[in-house]
Amino acid sequence: MIWFTEYQTENVGLTIKATQVKTIKSKYQEIVVLDTPEFGKVLVLDGAIQTTERDEFMYHEMLVHPALLKHPEPKRVLVIGGGDGGSVREALKHPSVEEVHLCEIDEEVIFVAEKYFPTISNKLRDPKTKIFIEDGSQFLEEKKDFYDVIILDSSDPVGPAEILFKEEFYKKVKGSLRENGIMVAQTESPFLQKDYFEKAVKEIKKVFKNVGVYTGFVPTYPAGMWSYTLASDNINVLEPLNAERFSSLKDLKYLTKDIYENLFSLTPQFVREMT
Ligand code: SAM
Repeated sequence: MIWFTEYQTENVGLTIKATQVKTIKSKYQEIVVLDTPEFGKVLVLDGAIQTTERDEFMYHEMLVHPALLKHPEPKRVLVIGGGDGGSVREALKHPSVEEVHLCEIDEEVIFVAEKYFPTISNKLRDPKTKIFIEDGSQFLEEKKDFYDVIILDSSDPVGPAEILFKEEFYKKVKGSLRENGIMVAQTESPFLQKDYFEKAVKEIKKVFKNVGVYTGFVPTYPAGMWSYTLASDNINVLEPLNAERFSSLKDLKYLTKDIYENLFSLTPQFVREMT
């Protein structure tokens, strides 16, 4: 056993007792799999925890379902990043969804997820899922007016994911959405990654007319407090639309109908002031 520390900022670290199971140096990043008594298997990319067996549902349910529920009838969904498969799995819970495309830059992440995280990656080979190994920004160049919902499930805005937090990229996302299209992005911790958060929301607001920020709890992410940003031109994402469809979603452990209907009510004042 070792004590693994993720250095979340220059001054703060999260330390977890762990056994190191696997280390791979891919073309893009260092991929580490840990086995831990508290969180089960943990996926780490370049020193940053991406997902854990124990708390992944908190993140994936909150990232995916609000955007899909707010769309009148989501059929085509794109996940950018998200090679662990958790967002794909959640998107496929929506009966109207016909296809989910996953655009992940690093195929090694997918191999690792399939080998070590079967409960997260179990829908990556679903007949409705199609995987593209490509940079998300380049991928969107060829997909105009195509998706109903685009989910940005990226790693932090450093290295390969930096491009996914810029205005030009959000413009491409907008161009790839069909009428009534909705984007949702993980936008980092408003508490410990204030600069990343503020910048991402600012850039999204330059591109989309309707933007809403909500927060949730993810114990292994910086400060345990995470933000998600919804954006659309035609849909008022601030409204609790289509809540009656909530009952069609199976096996949820974090999101409730109440949380969905009041999604923005728990956004703290200091976070609102930053947006
Ligand atoms: N939710 C997680 C978090 O916030 O810690 C992110 C999970 S997911 C594993 C992030 C994925 O985004 C990684 O597998 C990474 O390879 C992928 N990624 C990074 N930059 C990318 C890009 N430009 N295009 C597509 N995928 C990218």
